[in-house]
Amino acid sequence: MRTLHACTLCPRQCAVDRINGQLGYCKSGFQTRMFRWGPHFGEEPPISGSNGSGTLFFSHCTLKCIYCQNSKWSNGGQGEDLSIESLTDRFRFLVEKKCHNWNLVSPTPWLPQIEKAVMPLLEDGIRLPFVYNTSGYERIETLSKYSHLIDIALTDLRYASPDTATEGSDARNYVDSARASIHWMWKTLGPLQCDGDGIAQRGLIVRLLALPGRTQEVKENLIWLRNVCGPEVAVSVMAQYNPVGTAKHLPTWNRKITPEEFEPIAELVADLGFENGWIQSCENATAENMLGDDMTSGYGEVR
Ligand code: SF4
Repeated sequence: MRTLHACTLCPRQCAVDRINGQLGYCKSGFQTRMFRWGPHFGEEPPISGSNGSGTLFFSHCTLKCIYCQNSKWSNGGQGEDLSIESLTDRFRFLVEKKCHNWNLVSPTPWLPQIEKAVMPLLEDGIRLPFVYNTSGYERIETLSKYSHLIDIALTDLRYASPDTATEGSDARNYVDSARASIHWMWKTLGPLQCDGDGIAQRGLIVRLLALPGRTQEVKENLIWLRNVCGPEVAVSVMAQYNPVGTAKHLPTWNRKITPEEFEPIAELVADLGFENGWIQSCENATAENMLGDDMTSGYGEVR
């Protein structure tokens, strides 16, 4: 917890004293804030499985995406403040619900609290695979320190241009941070490994969200991934962009992507020879699907 006296958990490195009431860019305080939790069926098939992913949606994100579908809690800060004991109870609840994993959504500002909360369960031999569900805006120092909370990295790779990263998420250093983090995840975790029932146990999945008028950046990132990680890395190519929030009012962000834009991305995935992953269908993918409890989000296998 001493880390929180000068928080540098994410690349913003605010160095604020969160224990004594200072707030940094993300506005995370000392007590963990969470918006919702429970079994979730909108993730990729090996994460959701049949019983659902034990998802914990933490408040206060380190990015400010103008199109965020979760902005109520990611930027608006809605949620409930939890003691460490209450957080432990939620992890335990997800085990009792027979979820396949503990899915930490945007956990970066809360890693010290999460570590403390899961300790009693781990000491009792109660453990699910940790899914580290992140925007990709991470520091390698933080990932290394908390690597025991990362069995499966489910990470975005959103932009290939610092200008777009600034416009979309107010993070000029996003591309360098995310690519370095993904390289670390690949070296540390390797390809996705599933059990006999097809449920993820370890490895890396990279999500690439196609943004309107900016699909070239997905292509650049696919080529980068192919070169750095090889064809075994699991990719999840997403067509679900939905202009909500500020994006609704911005001319180049205020529309969904078209099948004509998305099709060449799917072709490139095939041409580059990726062996694992999923591609959403343009017709079925919606942001709402990802939040639903009974949707499959329009995922089709890469091959
Ligand atoms: S987690 Fe929040 S307070 Fe800490 S460095 Fe990042 S933005 Fe700043």
